[in-house]
Amino acid sequence: MIDNSSVCRDCPRECNSSRTYNDPGMCGAREGFTHFRVAKIMSHKWEEPFISGTNGSAAVFFAGCQLGCLFCQNYKISSPNSVFGKKISPDDLLSELLPLIKQGVHNINLVSGSHYTRAIIDLIKLIREKGITSPVIWNSSLYEKSESIKSLEGFVDIYLPDFKFVDSSISTKLSNAPDYFNYASSALAEMIRQKPMPVFSEDGLLLSGVVIRHLVLPGYYRDSIRVIDKLAATVPLNTPISIMSQYTPVQELIETKLKFEKQLQRRLTTYEYNKVIEHAIDRGFSHVLGQERSSATAIYTPDFSNFNQN
Ligand code: SF4
Repeated sequence: MIDNSSVCRDCPRECNSSRTYNDPGMCGAREGFTHFRVAKIMSHKWEEPFISGTNGSAAVFFAGCQLGCLFCQNYKISSPNSVFGKKISPDDLLSELLPLIKQGVHNINLVSGSHYTRAIIDLIKLIREKGITSPVIWNSSLYEKSESIKSLEGFVDIYLPDFKFVDSSISTKLSNAPDYFNYASSALAEMIRQKPMPVFSEDGLLLSGVVIRHLVLPGYYRDSIRVIDKLAATVPLNTPISIMSQYTPVQELIETKLKFEKQLQRRLTTYEYNKVIEHAIDRGFSHVLGQERSSATAIYTPDFSNFNQN
């Protein structure tokens, strides 16, 4: 996609890893460029209503992540050193997806797979060669290169990026990514270029388009307001904006990575959340989705207790 060199510079980390067991990437990739490590494949019904519908998605949770946020709710599988996840080829992953597709899921939801973009393109080619027309969703942190998103043109139907931060000091502190905002802005612009308008089916399911998510973090709602301002200035106002309140402090993280992040040791308040929702509406977004505050529980974190393990 970006180049064919044997070392990887595919994401903003540009870590020059050979993606092998002895030289894994900062994202945790150690399966070369042709395979992935997958933690879980499941029917998933907790996305936005126009994505989950009644039958849900066939969700693929990839192991590892190039962003590595301190507060990640899926830390068990996203940590680069995670022992969880099974090495699998695109062919074999398709075989595992087929039963869910036959059950009638509405779409195929690829969660946090940016570090496997090359192999994912091979997977989507196989999906289409089988005659499967389900929309393919790219569910990402937006810490990815615009060239990488360009390589997905014609393969991905729905982009579902989480635009996380504007302030570089926050993205540095929480994700060790001082350049997050610049990369995220460029990647999102490319997504919008490819899919400028949402397209819905007659029964209200999203078939194509961009849905921008934003997780409001306790103590950081002012940066969320800045995220909304930046989005209002750069994307069409009919772009669905999904503002999430589901952040749930995890005891294991409170005792380790979040030890000095007191704000992230609590849940979001209604005041913080409503401020962001109201701001999105005030800025003119016509399709703002909120979450019930009761969603801030662990049930919205997929159960990885029977995930694939190396
Ligand atoms: S995708 Fe992974 S291996 Fe490649 S540059 Fe990024 S962190 Fe390194």
